[in-house]
Amino acid sequence: MNFSLEGKTYVVMGVANKRSIAWGIAQALHDAGARLIFTYASERFEKSVRDLADSLDRDDSYFYECDVTDDEAIEKTFADIKNDVGVIHGLAHCIAFAKREDLQGEFIDTSRDGFLLAQNISAFSLAAVSRAAKDLMTEGGSIMTLTYLGGERVVQNYNVMGVAKASLDATVKYLANDLGKHGIRVNAISAGPIRTLSAKGVGDFNSILKEIEERAPLRKPVTQEEVGDAAYFLMSRLSRGITGEIIHVDSGYSILGR
Ligand code: NAD
Repeated sequence: MNFSLEGKTYVVMGVANKRSIAWGIAQALHDAGARLIFTYASERFEKSVRDLADSLDRDDSYFYECDVTDDEAIEKTFADIKNDVGVIHGLAHCIAFAKREDLQGEFIDTSRDGFLLAQNISAFSLAAVSRAAKDLMTEGGSIMTLTYLGGERVVQNYNVMGVAKASLDATVKYLANDLGKHGIRVNAISAGPIRTLSAKGVGDFNSILKEIEERAPLRKPVTQEEVGDAAYFLMSRLSRGITGEIIHVDSGYSILGR
């Protein structure tokens, strides 16, 4: 079987800097031969994304600003992508946000605004971008997102983002059911903790990492590259029978009881 992604085009949403999991995914897809389209939240990230993409050894990448809270921006981004490249074969949604004050203390203190913001950016956006991307996946496709164990179980300080990830996990399943008939698969990777810009916002993140080093079956935190390789699998033909699934790439931590 040919594992190459040569001749395929993938949209990667959510590269902020070189530590972003999205960047690990972009590199893995690039190494497999794919052409990449990058979207970023605001002008602030454009230079960083372009500089990273420049370090890849090809010059046919595309770049679009797309704030996923803005329906018009999503519509315009995918209309522009359709115009510029035509067909796409997959999309990696690597986007989440919550207010810093909602990622510490107790979940019960979450404000309505904070709750809705986290749901909007971290969960609803997957449905919104999938709807827009569907029309460009005329040859079938693979959509993937990034979730975390805090959506399945209580993880201290993860709070409002845990509830948003539970919503994201359910969104993956409903989208998989809707889009399967169009040959489009939808899955999530539940990544173990990785030190990124977003992770910095989670209270006492260091102790979460330490727990992985001490107790996860593989006794080490996962890397961007490991998540990237799982994303490559989900984008490739190798995973063609898998949809609506949440794959844990977490050094085995999620199998543990207390
Ligand atoms: P990151 O900060 O590098 O990426 C988060 C991205 O979300 C950024 O690029 C940011 O610009 C983007 N974003 C935020 N609001 C947006 C908006 N309104 N419109 C468009 N983009 C927006 O951090 P990361 O850890 O690479 O996060 C990527 C994904 O991985 C997130 O969904 C996160 O919850 C998930 N995840 C992270 C970890 C971890 O430990 N780092 C573990 C499991 C899952």
